[in-house]
Amino acid sequence: MNHEQSRSLYDRALSVMPGGVNSSVRATQPYPFFVERGDGGHVIDADGNRYLDFVMGYGPLLLGHDLPEPVQSAVQQRAAEGPMYGAPTEVEVELAEFVRRHVPSVEMTRFVNSGTEATVSAVRLARAYTGRDKIVVMQGGYHGAQESTLVEGEGDHTAPSSPGIPPEFAEHTLTLPFNDAEAARELFAEHGDDIAAVLTEPILGNYGIVHPVDGYHETLRELCDDHGSLLVFDEVITGFRVGGLQCAQGKFGVTPDLTTFGKIVGGGFPVGAVGGRSEIVEQFTPAGDVFQSGTFSGHPVTMAAGLETLRYAAENDVYDHVNGLGERLRAGLTDILADQAPEYTVVGTDSMFKVVFTRDADGTQAGGPCDAGCTQDPDCERFETCPKTGADVKRAETERWQRLFWPAMKEQGVFLTANQFESQFVCDAHTEADIDEALEAYKDAL
Ligand code: PMP
Repeated sequence: MNHEQSRSLYDRALSVMPGGVNSSVRATQPYPFFVERGDGGHVIDADGNRYLDFVMGYGPLLLGHDLPEPVQSAVQQRAAEGPMYGAPTEVEVELAEFVRRHVPSVEMTRFVNSGTEATVSAVRLARAYTGRDKIVVMQGGYHGAQESTLVEGEGDHTAPSSPGIPPEFAEHTLTLPFNDAEAARELFAEHGDDIAAVLTEPILGNYGIVHPVDGYHETLRELCDDHGSLLVFDEVITGFRVGGLQCAQGKFGVTPDLTTFGKIVGGGFPVGAVGGRSEIVEQFTPAGDVFQSGTFSGHPVTMAAGLETLRYAAENDVYDHVNGLGERLRAGLTDILADQAPEYTVVGTDSMFKVVFTRDADGTQAGGPCDAGCTQDPDCERFETCPKTGADVKRAETERWQRLFWPAMKEQGVFLTANQFESQFVCDAHTEADIDEALEAYKDAL
């Protein structure tokens, strides 16, 4: 493949943008390809190379790159009518009504502009509502580039995970190993009365895809209820993807107090949202006194794209299609791994998938090939070896992924997320032939 144009664009980018990119994951080595345009389930780069795309914008593009007709014209019409006004529009109401109709825990929604902004606002809301300062997050969880959740460490021994964050932020953030109910009970026994909220992804989506074990979310729900803390599900990735329109909370049958959304709910445009019971969400200004505001919030073009995308998904068999392809891909990968690389694991559910290298530094296996769409069923014969915590996944060989695996897939025309931990996505524009082509590439790369 020729990458001359991308290489020269990257040279230019490096002198005007830090690391040559506007979001760090995009800086693939030795240089990223620059995208010229999308085409269904593919992207075409500046040198004219065509890639089968499983990054899908890191999640927002449920339908792929070609917006189907009702979405396309709604977006174009909104843009043509003047992009935004600083006054409310009907389409915001319609999208909030759509979310309430489908997501069990949501009565009201405040739309913002990114997943990060959603989690910042949800944490502020939970702290104000409970009158407490501490929040609990999962080790290996991700909630955006915000001060309160960029922490590392265990339990109440935490520190900021980035320079530039005062240690006082981390003092208010406690961490738990995902899926460890006993650790959660201990943390609540010690700090329960100070905990404003537990903030967790229903499925860890930024750490190799880790499913909840049976009963884990129920334990968190119970602990929050017993101690007057809020349970906040971060469904920025899983929202309107896992479990379809009901989201992961519908699939798992667990009702959080608040939910953060992003990605798909904006149909490919910048978005975030905080939803939940009216009694809590109405604490936001101007209904309540918890300050929340944004020039671009509820942007009409974004709202139209989100609403029409979700309507399209509701009226067509989008979830059946993408989940079916996801299953085909995970099953194929499971076979390939069993045959060629049994120390690696395929993880995922619905339209999410990833192959994680879970070999220990000493060569022993932390995980074996696991069935697609696993719900961490304790009766499963591979239950003992599939990754259940962020720590299980942490053993993944990131150097191998970045140096060998990712470039090997790229050179065969398959675009995957550039690090070991981030989920990949199947979209509505993908076909069975695309999946089979991807499996051939995996075979070769592995
Ligand atoms: N929460 C989760 C679970 C995410 O995956 C992400 C981003 N991938 C965010 C929050 C932050 O969203 P954004 O990048 O839109 O700020």
